[in-house]
Amino acid sequence: MPVAVTSLDELNSRIVSCERCPRLREHCLQIAKVRRRQYSSWEYWGRPVPSFGDPRARVLLLGLAPGAHGSNRTGRPFTGDGSGNFLYPVLHEAGFASQPNALNRDDGMQLTDLWITAVARCAPPGNKPTPEELRNCAPWLDEEIGLLTRLRVVVCLGKIAFDGLLAWAHRTGQIKSRAGYTFGHGAEYSLPGGLAVLASYHPSLQNTNTGKLTRPMFLEIFRRARRLADTKRGETGRMPIE
Ligand code: SF4
Repeated sequence: MPVAVTSLDELNSRIVSCERCPRLREHCLQIAKVRRRQYSSWEYWGRPVPSFGDPRARVLLLGLAPGAHGSNRTGRPFTGDGSGNFLYPVLHEAGFASQPNALNRDDGMQLTDLWITAVARCAPPGNKPTPEELRNCAPWLDEEIGLLTRLRVVVCLGKIAFDGLLAWAHRTGQIKSRAGYTFGHGAEYSLPGGLAVLASYHPSLQNTNTGKLTRPMFLEIFRRARRLADTKRGETGRMPIE
């Protein structure tokens, strides 16, 4: 039986030593060893990336997986790569982040009312975790959501994160089927347990460089998340996490 966690810090400390996915652990360590030339002086993190944010958050940001030379290098979600360079200025403008620039774990960044996590916590080859690896990582998300006691809204970045959140809702008995939940930018659902789900395109360079996801589009997602959090006062009625 897994040891019950009492805090998000303790959960993070367990996550960083996780070895459930041999392929991903090997990949992350290999990247950390070889490194990219521009980061040759860095000591890469190379371990599972812990979640980051405000333990009293009402909004959860659910990403896909660490970037090979971003958070796999810096050890903090969305820190040090193109996705983070697009995300954090928007979070700052929306009032969730204390500063627009995310450089490293010691840059002073603080989040308010927001907690950032991912459906896979180790950088996968080609940014594609396998279904088995996503299943391996899912129990961490279950524990984490159980510890975020003020949670009202989940913003899912990309379809894999959206599917991961629906899988969580299914595991916890909140939904019987995923039918009727369709991913799209700006798609919004209210789960029977009371949690609001907001879908967004992922801020990958592939999406932001092509204009598929623009800064105004992304900012509106977080403004909407704030409004949803503000309007969902009182008990969420969430189903208990088994
Ligand atoms: S992806 Fe998740 S389950 Fe797999 S090794 Fe990393 S932290 Fe563990």
